[in-house]
Amino acid sequence: MEALEFYSRGSRFMLNFVYTRICQKVQAVSHRWTYQEIPSPKNVVVLGGSYSGVHLAQRLTETLPTGYRAVLVERNSHFNHLFVFPRFGVVPGMEQGAFIPYGGIATTAPRGIFQHIQDSAVEITPTQVQLASGKSIDYEYLAVATGSWQPAPAKLTSTEKADACAEMRASQHRIQNSSRIAVIGGGPVGVQVATDIKSYFPQKDVTLIHSRHQLLPNFGPRLHEFALQALKKLQVNTVLGQRPKTVVDGVDDLVRSSTQETLAFQNGRREVFDLVIRCTGQRPNSGILAHLYPSAVCKSTGQILVRPTLQIDAGAGSPVNPHLFALGDVAKTGAPRMERAARSQADVVTSNILSMINGQSPSAIYRPVDEEGVIKLTLGKYDWAMYFKEESGRELMVNGTSKSEDLDVRRAWINLGAKYDPST
Ligand SMILES: Cc1cc2nc3c(=O)[nH]c(=O)nc-3n(C[C@H](O)[C@H](O)[C@H](O)COP(=O)(O)OP(=O)(O)OC[C@H]3O[C@@H](n4cnc5c(N)ncnc54)[C@H](O)[C@@H]3O)c2cc1C
Repeated sequence: MEALEFYSRGSRFMLNFVYTRICQKVQAVSHRWTYQEIPSPKNVVVLGGSYSGVHLAQRLTETLPTGYRAVLVERNSHFNHLFVFPRFGVVPGMEQGAFIPYGGIATTAPRGIFQHIQDSAVEITPTQVQLASGKSIDYEYLAVATGSWQPAPAKLTSTEKADACAEMRASQHRIQNSSRIAVIGGGPVGVQVATDIKSYFPQKDVTLIHSRHQLLPNFGPRLHEFALQALKKLQVNTVLGQRPKTVVDGVDDLVRSSTQETLAFQNGRREVFDLVIRCTGQRPNSGILAHLYPSAVCKSTGQILVRPTLQIDAGAGSPVNPHLFALGDVAKTGAPRMERAARSQADVVTSNILSMINGQSPSAIYRPVDEEGVIKLTLGKYDWAMYFKEESGRELMVNGTSKSEDLDVRRAWINLGAKYDPST
């Protein structure tokens, strides 16, 4: 019964999504015939080319009127498909598929409507975005989709594909060369990394350490229970309610070599690991607004404050340029930090920018929907669970097995208009 409800709600949500996308694509065909390239169009700048920024840029290239163009600023040479990072950072040989060329995202867009710049934005002024290269771009509208920062393996520091692949290969080698591995952080990334290591390399001793008593704290207790059982089945040691500290080399006699790390637990216990992988410490990339609108950055979460229209909000008495928007993980929208939510927000931003260009007030409102929070959590090589929680607190979950070790990475390439060729 539960599976039936889960899949019928999921299908309704996906059908609605597919129907909306088909309508958008049909409108894009007529838009292609009406849009005219002009010498100096006004810029609608999108900062950040990941799940939210790319969808927004695509929607803008399908809808902006003559006189405007979309400019996507992204520091990475390739789209980083984060969903596969936990597995591809453990299992050798698949890493190239995680980095997808941007070339296909606007191939059907009219000439002159899209510009893609590989650079880092370092500052926003009332009229311009300043880039690390020293260049600047004027903007008429600006959408901040800079997401969040997290240490590897969740995200990487390299901005070029070859270097990012080398970073992933180094992570695989470290895992291969270690017998006792600790993974710190029991969120989705930590759980996936720990279960993948143990299921691909069963001879290794793997310990997952989490500061709270509930794994996956952004979800409900049922997913925690399910993940805990899966960890037990795989013989991953799970330590909950502990925030261990690293014992500095040389101070502790348990440290046996410079590559090993000793963790000291609150109860006084100390353990030496060959490798400690940290899957914690997500921080919103909102610093770019810190000078222009410091009060628009939430003091507790570091996210950018937004109105329901996704226009940036600096609080009462601090007017912000209404042409500034924020979306995705960097924005405090109340939504789950997940891809589907980011895409819905991109639709809202597109609609509001178009209204404003047409001299109307922005009227599209973003409201989180339960199904945007659906997570598909892998629990080792084959097992997975799909889960979401309703606003009422009711939890729905299904589980199963899959033979797709590359986590259907080809689908992500197709969605970005790219031909699957990991070497590109
Ligand atoms: C390892 C991992 C696995 C995940 N798995 C899933 C999953 O299975 N399903 C799901 O729905 N969600 C998943 N998520 C969550 C999902 O990936 C996020 O919700 C999503 O990435 C948010 O997208 P975003 O565009 O808002 O931000 P981000 O993905 O964080 O992207 C921000 C982009 O902005 C760029 N950027 C930042 N600052 C600058 C700057 N100053 N100048 C230029 N560019 C800049 C970055 O390079 C990056 O490309 C996962 C997340 C992680 C980390």
